[in-house]
Amino acid sequence: MKYPFSLLILLFTMNLVMYGQAYDIKKADSIFSAKKELYFKFHVFDKSEIATLTRIISIDNVKGNDVYAYANSSEFEKFSKLGYQIEILAPPGSMLSDAELMKPGGSSASSGPASWNFYPAYQEYVDTMVYFAHTYPDICKLDTIGTTTNGRLLLVAKISKDVNTDGAKPQFLYTSSIHGNETTGYIGMLHLIEYLLTRYGSDSRVTRLVDSIEIFINPLANPDGTYAGGNNTVNGATRYNANGVDMNRNYPDPAAGQHPDGNPWQPETIAFMNFANANNFTMSANFHCGEEVFNYPWDTWSRLTADNAWWVFVGREFADTIHKYGPAGYFTFLQNGITDGYDWYTITGGRQDYMNYFHHCREVTIELSSTYIMPPSQLVNYWNYDYRSYLNYIEQALYGIHGIITDTVTGVPLRAKVYISNHDIDSSFVYSGMPGGYYDRLINQGSWDLTFSRSGYFSKTIKNNVVSHYHGVHLDVQLKPLTYGTGELIQGELTIYPVPAGKEIHIVFPETDSKKWRLDVLNSMGISIYSSEVSNSGKVVNNLDVSSFADGLYFVVLSNENGVYRKKILVRH
Ligand SMILES: [Zn+2]
Repeated sequence: MKYPFSLLILLFTMNLVMYGQAYDIKKADSIFSAKKELYFKFHVFDKSEIATLTRIISIDNVKGNDVYAYANSSEFEKFSKLGYQIEILAPPGSMLSDAELMKPGGSSASSGPASWNFYPAYQEYVDTMVYFAHTYPDICKLDTIGTTTNGRLLLVAKISKDVNTDGAKPQFLYTSSIHGNETTGYIGMLHLIEYLLTRYGSDSRVTRLVDSIEIFINPLANPDGTYAGGNNTVNGATRYNANGVDMNRNYPDPAAGQHPDGNPWQPETIAFMNFANANNFTMSANFHCGEEVFNYPWDTWSRLTADNAWWVFVGREFADTIHKYGPAGYFTFLQNGITDGYDWYTITGGRQDYMNYFHHCREVTIELSSTYIMPPSQLVNYWNYDYRSYLNYIEQALYGIHGIITDTVTGVPLRAKVYISNHDIDSSFVYSGMPGGYYDRLINQGSWDLTFSRSGYFSKTIKNNVVSHYHGVHLDVQLKPLTYGTGELIQGELTIYPVPAGKEIHIVFPETDSKKWRLDVLNSMGISIYSSEVSNSGKVVNNLDVSSFADGLYFVVLSNENGVYRKKILVRH
């Protein structure tokens, strides 16, 4: 027998409990026999209590001193010892029936989605993503970044001109529904993919975005939660994943450490962290429901980011554009639709702070609708209220100061740090990404001094870069390796023969005075594979044995205290 008799009696009486009534906290654990998570409301006397509570349960909203939260059974056990009176609320993912949510007679995506007034079944979601990539192979690529606890796919559509090559472009990410029962952005993101793909080449704004940015869209970050009620319905969707973990509390946190929720990283969390590590995202947004607000960093602590003025500018643009196209009262929570995360309520382990702090990516949490599972007939309306803001936010990735960082001597792209003295704090500096060496320092309008640095290279500061809103400043930067001393690169190539090289090469010294030289050979990645001291007496030729070098391109660099000469050579045996 799975349960003692007394608990069975309790389970039976639980079915008679109406949601919304004040409930004896001691009885609430019985609900976990049927569900992995409980949704409830309680009152705090002082908002300062939230800093402790947020580490115990998953707070979803705070309105005045009313706290709305979720808990799994072990979270609830800890919480119940604190003595709060709770009111159990109906699960937001079970408010509408299968018939109200899903397409009548099932669904199929063999020809792509015809309308956006229903929720796809899980397989139809997968088929729709496959359809996009198959139908627009030049600008859309489908990537499976991992699988969930229950084996469902974590899918990302990459949309970009020359989608199969990683260019020197900003990388932008949209992802939705890390809370499985918050689905307005799920359909919104599918709709956005279709919008970008079908308008590329005819709509100048879409064409510019797709040409200039690598746009990654993950419509469903928690498919096990969204389809907790089965693959054919979103009725019964849960906030948590299949292990009963809130994945937006499961990330390393700048203040609270690697495992702020006490849980191991979930498969979905690990997949996403690997995905973030493999890219260099400039900007990102994580879509939620339950409120209507643009929640910018930080969530974990009260101090503001270095770029708070930029966040307020971008947030206002997002909210004000919705106000222009949406109904009165929509997206007006807190500061008329925007808030600093901590001001609303603090959380730890959120993905937003993880991306900002550990990946130097401007990620925001956007709550799209107070309704968790939007009635399907409303989905197109919300698209119409929101899509211009989606485009505006992507477009911001084109602004700020950006360019390519390369090695002065080889021209090879570099990963380097871009730092603004007397401004950057809390990881607000950025890095250029590989393989392209592209960096993008999004920043508020003003005049900014940027310092570019990398170990093994001379740092370089470029002053007075004047930034204005809606205008990108292009600034390519070359860094010089320390290896060759302080001498400048001397224009004009070395003379080296034969071309291509076989057994040995002959290097003609560019200066006739007797000098000590350093001779380096670098591979095509700019990594040194040979180094020696040589000297010349008059204009003599130095012979170098290259018979052991693999076929390919190499840089030969000859340097002394006066300067650096280089030449690219081809070795072919
Ligand atoms: Zn959420």
